[in-house]
Amino acid sequence: MEVVAGRGGDAFGVLVGTLLSLRTRDETTLPACRRLRAIASTPQALAGQGVQAIAKAIYPVAFYRVKARRLKAVARLLLERHGGAVPDDLDALLALPGVGRKTANLTLGLAFGIPAVGVDIHVHRILNRLGALSSRTPDQTERLLRAHLPRRWWLRVNAILVPFGQAICTPQSPWCSRCPVAAACRRAGVGRRR
Ligand code: SF4
Repeated sequence: MEVVAGRGGDAFGVLVGTLLSLRTRDETTLPACRRLRAIASTPQALAGQGVQAIAKAIYPVAFYRVKARRLKAVARLLLERHGGAVPDDLDALLALPGVGRKTANLTLGLAFGIPAVGVDIHVHRILNRLGALSSRTPDQTERLLRAHLPRRWWLRVNAILVPFGQAICTPQSPWCSRCPVAAACRRAGVGRRR
């Protein structure tokens, strides 16, 4: 997953784009963000939409019905708890439905410029294959990066590794023969490769 949907936009747009992009390619996420924005660009407007209308706007993102329910719930909670604003606080973001550490961190970084590490399954997989670290889960990878990676790289690591994971170091059968860092890679856990 790469989050570009809300980049450069408002915090609510960043949060919505990040939620929509989960398990969905950018080429599907970006048009869905635009369609949703056309009917609801604020928490107030989104909370006032029906779940079906939201689902119709964001289709065909993955789990669009679930995401539609969550988006409406998120919008309502933003109004109830935060005066209609997206909080710039990790714990407050994590308290919103469907918002995990990756989404919260990306929202903090992209919307507020707060140093945060955006770790998704691509980042987690690639760093483990390279041998840069050894961890079992993306959350563990995030904690290791927070502890050891210089802050100036925290946001960039996601922007660099996600496209790399989509094009070269793919989940199944990575393109090691085309990889620019092949000489330095331990290929930990890599079976079939091209
Ligand atoms: S050499 Fe292969 S496993 Fe290692 S980073 Fe490159 S594509 Fe991924």
